[in-house]
Amino acid sequence: MGTEKSLSIIKPEAVEHRLIGEIVRRLEGTGLRIVAAKLLHLDLEKARAFYAVHRERPFYSSLTEYIASGPIFVSVLEGENAISKNREMMGATDPSKAAEGTIRCQWGTDVEKNAVHGSDAPETAAWEISFFFQPEEIHGIHK
Ligand code: ATP
Ligand code: MG
Repeated sequence: MGTEKSLSIIKPEAVEHRLIGEIVRRLEGTGLRIVAAKLLHLDLEKARAFYAVHRERPFYSSLTEYIASGPIFVSVLEGENAISKNREMMGATDPSKAAEGTIRCQWGTDVEKNAVHGSDAPETAAWEISFFFQPEEIHGIHK
């Protein structure tokens, strides 16, 4: 508990639908602070590396092709319980099962194109943040 960091990704279909502003507003509304951010277009190799944890899953090639299909907005959120606050605001993986008022309920397309990604634990957050950002690109209080 206490101050944490979480990696957030606004996925290609949400960027394409011009939802960066709406989603950032929702995330900032939780009280979390954006301490790093960039727009990136991953190549397939980098997408496969990011989702390597899912390489045995049946949706791995579809997921990695999707995440490499267009620009994504990658940011680091910092604050009290950043990981659970981010995931609560995201909602369930499948938008059709996500609670009312969550980002995925409102803007997710389907279980794959579900608008956002958020780290699920402190260890994965640390790995994911270092995957996209150099320490000097992160402007938080807690390094
Ligand atoms: P994320 O890791 O993106 O924050 P999550 O933790 O809710 O989401 P995971 O189970 O880690 O979900 O799956 C990672 C991503 O893989 C999902 O966000 C979604 O894009 C995709 N995915 C998950 N389950 C399926 C599925 N059954 N079919 C297609 N894609 C899926
Ligand atoms: Mg996950």
